Amino acid sequence: MTAQIIDARAIAERLRAEVAAEVAELKARHGLTPGLAVVLTGDDPASQVYVRSKGEHSIAAGMHSITRRLPAETSQAELLAVVDELNRDPAIHGVLVQLPLPKGLDEQAVIAAIDPAKDVDGLHFVNSGRLAQGLPALTPCTPLGCMILLRETLGDLTGARAVVVGRSVLVGRPIAQLLLQADCTVTIAHSRTRDLPAVCREADILVAAVGRPQMIQADWIKPGATVIDVGINRVPFRDPVKAAAGKTKLVGDVAFKAACEVAGHITPVPGGVGLMTVACLLKNTVTAAKRIAGLEA
Ligand code: NDP
Repeated sequence: MTAQIIDARAIAERLRAEVAAEVAELKARHGLTPGLAVVLTGDDPASQVYVRSKGEHSIAAGMHSITRRLPAETSQAELLAVVDELNRDPAIHGVLVQLPLPKGLDEQAVIAAIDPAKDVDGLHFVNSGRLAQGLPALTPCTPLGCMILLRETLGDLTGARAVVVGRSVLVGRPIAQLLLQADCTVTIAHSRTRDLPAVCREADILVAAVGRPQMIQADWIKPGATVIDVGINRVPFRDPVKAAAGKTKLVGDVAFKAACEVAGHITPVPGGVGLMTVACLLKNTVTAAKRIAGLEA
């Protein structure tokens, strides 16, 4: 079997266009411009790239967008004051504090300080609690993106056996909750799971969110399964010349080339789930704006 590559680029592009159309309609009909504020603390290079992309895409969608850049030496109290100010700003409907925070800052306390109605990263315990109870919630962007890819690829997911490898608050747990809501039979695997390959082989839907380059092997995959690779790992090139020059490339958590011989559908890395994350952030900001304005329950 040769897997069909899931065209996340096209799906993300369509989602961004839908969001832009909805933003235009909210402006025209209700005088409402969804606003996103991203707080970047410190100078982590990857975070800088992500934050720039979030700002550019939100402006392209017609939203109000601000980025608050704070020095790495920012104190907990100063960061909490910025979050409080954004919570109160009526032009802002989404507040995202870019993680990781510099050492010494308490991430959990900062996330807990975000108004749950503006928590477009879906990490506040009110939103994760609502998600766990099957209530409407702002849902973490990467898991939301994975579900959109799965629905586009498979349609109805009812009854599918889903295995999620990884149980982080950011990715693994919310994906498992969303798959459960979609009536899948869900297994969450992690570093203590016994015989992980056998667990993975049960999956009609296999989601890899581990952070270990190409860990999931082809013979862990049930023939015809749909594989969603969330992993983003930077590794040196095999080519010794490129490796010696310090060049690196991105790979996922799945041994992609071999997996393509077994899976039915698969997401590539790069060019897969990562593209959905920003598109879903825009979608969440519109959802938050509509709920705050009383236009959506
Ligand atoms: P975490 O490090 O927070 O979680 C990793 C999870 O994988 C943990 O639950 C851990 O288990 C599990 N794990 C680690 N090693 C093994 C193993 N050998 N066997 C089975 N399970 C294992 O990572 P995140 O969830 O934040 O991210 C996962 C990956 O997704 C990373 O590569 C990250 O870069 C990527 N990512 C991609 C995004 C995107 O937009 N595409 C967005 C966010 C993340 P345990 O709990 O037992 O320690």
